[in-house]
Amino acid sequence: MTTDTRPTENLPADFSNIISDHSLEAIFIFDSNLQCLDANEAAAKLFQYRAEDFIGTDSSFLIAPEHRHIATENARSKTTAPYILELIKNDGTHFQGLIQGTNVSIPGQELRVTTVRDLTGLNELERQRQNSSDKLASIYANQLAGIVVIDGSRTIKQANDKSAHILGFDRAEEIIGIPLTTIHVSKEKQEKFDQLYTHGKVPATGLTEEFSFYKKDGSKAWLKVSGSPISKANPPDLSKGIVWIIHDISDLKATEVKLEQAFRELEVIFNYANVAIVFTIGDRIIKKTNQTFVDMFGGESPEDWVGRSAKDFHTDDESFYKFGAQYHAILTSNDVREVDYQFKSRNGKILWATISGRALDTTQPADLTKGVIWVLKDITQRKAMEQELIRLSREDALTGASNRRHFFEQANREINIMRRYGKTLSLLMLDIDFFKKINDQYGHSVGDQALICFAKLCKKSVREEDLVGRLGGEEFAILLLDTSLNRAEEVARRILEDLSKQTCDLPIKSMTASIGAVEVSHSETLEQALARADQLLYKAKHNGKNRVET
Ligand code: GH3
Ligand code: MG
Ligand code: MG
Repeated sequence: MTTDTRPTENLPADFSNIISDHSLEAIFIFDSNLQCLDANEAAAKLFQYRAEDFIGTDSSFLIAPEHRHIATENARSKTTAPYILELIKNDGTHFQGLIQGTNVSIPGQELRVTTVRDLTGLNELERQRQNSSDKLASIYANQLAGIVVIDGSRTIKQANDKSAHILGFDRAEEIIGIPLTTIHVSKEKQEKFDQLYTHGKVPATGLTEEFSFYKKDGSKAWLKVSGSPISKANPPDLSKGIVWIIHDISDLKATEVKLEQAFRELEVIFNYANVAIVFTIGDRIIKKTNQTFVDMFGGESPEDWVGRSAKDFHTDDESFYKFGAQYHAILTSNDVREVDYQFKSRNGKILWATISGRALDTTQPADLTKGVIWVLKDITQRKAMEQELIRLSREDALTGASNRRHFFEQANREINIMRRYGKTLSLLMLDIDFFKKINDQYGHSVGDQALICFAKLCKKSVREEDLVGRLGGEEFAILLLDTSLNRAEEVARRILEDLSKQTCDLPIKSMTASIGAVEVSHSETLEQALARADQLLYKAKHNGKNRVET
């Protein structure tokens, strides 16, 4: 392309090409006497003249006087090396120009073609380039990462101090010139490295890999290297070199190893703990359980429970929600509390367990959906024993009726409830007639059997919620809930009637009892009511026994 339309008739035909081809660059053509034969528009523009103004002159007026001799010498010696001269425009401004001469022989003539490039802009560019390369250098030197530039033969061409430090050297200079592959990379990793390095394995977009290697002092370390091929072709031309960014991740790796170890230890604890452990996430969905959990709640294996709802080991839905509601506040406040609760195994067996849960999220309130670790201890046996103990502490050992202490406790409680809720409560005092005779006639053991038989008949004649107590010897008391005196008298008569028909296969002919019945008044104590009933019992004895007095 050319903007130069000026006729070039002064020139041999061949040169019009040079002029037009280089029309964007200022070009002068001199003859062997260094008289200007021609100049192009770019030259005219650069110096603010018309091209004709140069022709026939030595053009030295374009050169600062103190530089003119340089131009003359270079032209005479036909040098082709570029040189810089201070040049002058038509308006008198000076500028730096890069001059390069070419010697051209044509039949009959020796010509010199001189190009002039204005360096003003170039200087600015160079200054900028220098500036940004300074910046780059400072980034390079102060990087937290090591930077290594290798060439096609994998020799380190550039490196920053950090990369030398990472590899166990003091200064970058110590590793520059060394093949990267000879730097203490462990053998197995070296092979991987080699593989990666072969063509096509390092993509144009770069790659990141972790390598173990040996430092200069022989200690082992871990590197994370990210390589970017300098060539951006796809696949990249690795012979152009690679920039490697190197991070020392030894600390990270050591932590990873420790974590892994800790995790393995935890797994062992988890699997062999003699408590059931359940990890739930979201809305109490089981994520993990251990063998003890399986031993306790059934199923094939811990995995068998994964993905199921915790509902599956609660006795029923209601119990599941009730437990959730109760324990929610404990979990969200990051508290830990042991609670005894009933659960159900796969095969329907009811279990008692002490359960405690802890939220994994430690913020307050804790986000329970992030997970909760539950620990359950099977206390079914202990609970059974506890309940047996409670039963024994409440019952009379011979007859199974409530003992005196428990009867008084319960009766006092019921009297309080009666008062508070305006209920009706009745009390019977019972004493077996001529019991001494039974003992005397049939022996003490038959007497014992008779007591058992009497207690059984009493229990049979009252409701579940009524309370039969043995106050001592052959003396019993019965607390009848929500029962008026009339009803109490009926119950008492029924007991006597049953007693007359039933001797529990004992050798005795018959057994009778006397009963005093009272309705407990809202203003009296238990003792006062018992005393009244006792008086009525005495009255029944006095009036011939085997009867009820009210
Ligand atoms: P009453 O008709 O007036 O009630 O005369 P009773 O013989 O039934 O009454 P008493 O109080 O004279 O005798 C009660 C007897 O009950 C005395 C005691 O040896 C006997 N006894 C008390 N506790 C037991 C016991 O646990 N087993 C047996 N076999 N007898 C007992
Ligand atoms: Mg008695
Ligand atoms: Mg008696």
